[in-house]
Amino acid sequence: MRQPKVVHAAVGQLGRSFGALLLFLAASCAAPHSSGPNRFEFTEPQMGVPFRIVLYAPDKPTADQAARAAFGRITQLNDILSDYDTDSELSRLSQTAGSGRAVQASADLWFVLKRSQELAQRTDGAFDVTVGPVVSLWRKARREKRLPAPAKLAEALKAVGYRNLVLDPQCHAARLLVPYMRLDLGAIAKGYAVDAALKVLRARGVTRALVSGGGDMVAGDPPPGKRGWRIEVAPLDVTNAPPARFVLLANAGLATSGDLFQHLEIDGKRYSHIVDPHTGIGLTDHSLVTVIAPDGITADGLSTAISVLGPEAGARLVEKTRGAAVHMVRMPGDRIEMAESSRFKRFYEAP
Ligand code: ADP
Ligand code: MG
Repeated sequence: MRQPKVVHAAVGQLGRSFGALLLFLAASCAAPHSSGPNRFEFTEPQMGVPFRIVLYAPDKPTADQAARAAFGRITQLNDILSDYDTDSELSRLSQTAGSGRAVQASADLWFVLKRSQELAQRTDGAFDVTVGPVVSLWRKARREKRLPAPAKLAEALKAVGYRNLVLDPQCHAARLLVPYMRLDLGAIAKGYAVDAALKVLRARGVTRALVSGGGDMVAGDPPPGKRGWRIEVAPLDVTNAPPARFVLLANAGLATSGDLFQHLEIDGKRYSHIVDPHTGIGLTDHSLVTVIAPDGITADGLSTAISVLGPEAGARLVEKTRGAAVHMVRMPGDRIEMAESSRFKRFYEAP
């Protein structure tokens, strides 16, 4: 296996606002050809964040119906995969923890659980959807603006560990071995949802489309006359930051994970909503990880996993994943470091 090329460069002093965000630029999409399909854009709150669909279609009724069907599919997935909704299929599975029962899963839940467990194995548990008990302590900590009590974290950690989620591939059933286990698909469900929404659009003949939700997106065929959807990997909001770069995305997923919006700051230390499942502690080396992969679910899972693994192990994981590439910015201490896997450069728009 070829070693990934990891580039480290100090590019400026630590800025408090780490303003790197992925934006897709409405203005950058192709103007509709007079005879070709027209561009339509839709936004809807889904899974706790705004989801956005940009598509090209011959007329408005086709566009409206396709977008409505795609959003409907995301709503359906939320009913299955949400850990906030106590009545979701996922929550009902979590409620059987420690009972000894195996529960048969729907095709969607099965697929997401299977992909989650594969990634957990590949990352030795840096990615782990059994982090639910610890994540809920950190959610409470963010609301109350104080760190979780160490004793409570230690207690919650007893119910964390992907090996205690047992999947039976024969009957597509899942069993949670330890009492109080709680599954949380927050690091992978949105990636699956954007893929599923794009699938619905394609089935209706709408292939030129971009679907995004939070930091997760998937692109279908490019806009007419273009090589890809132009996505800005925005510049850092600090002095001497390098200029914005753009990637061109077509038939691929892209995900960003980081502690930009969701974090807890105590005594000048910033704790991310992404936790290290081995310690139960929110990550503190502020990072923003952008992954491009063949689909949204792969990009979403990898971006969270790499946030936990760090640049070297993260880049190794990406190089071993077909069609994947990573761009990572970290701020350990007061320096900014950037690392990029060799494949990421291929996605940059030619200057
Ligand atoms: P976002 O939700 O901001 O798009 P991510 O895809 O990185 O970002 O997912 C973060 C969410 O995943 C957290 O809010 C939490 O619910 C869950 N999570 C946190 N740490 C882990 C982890 N180590 N492995 C799997 N899921 C995690
Ligand atoms: Mg993720």
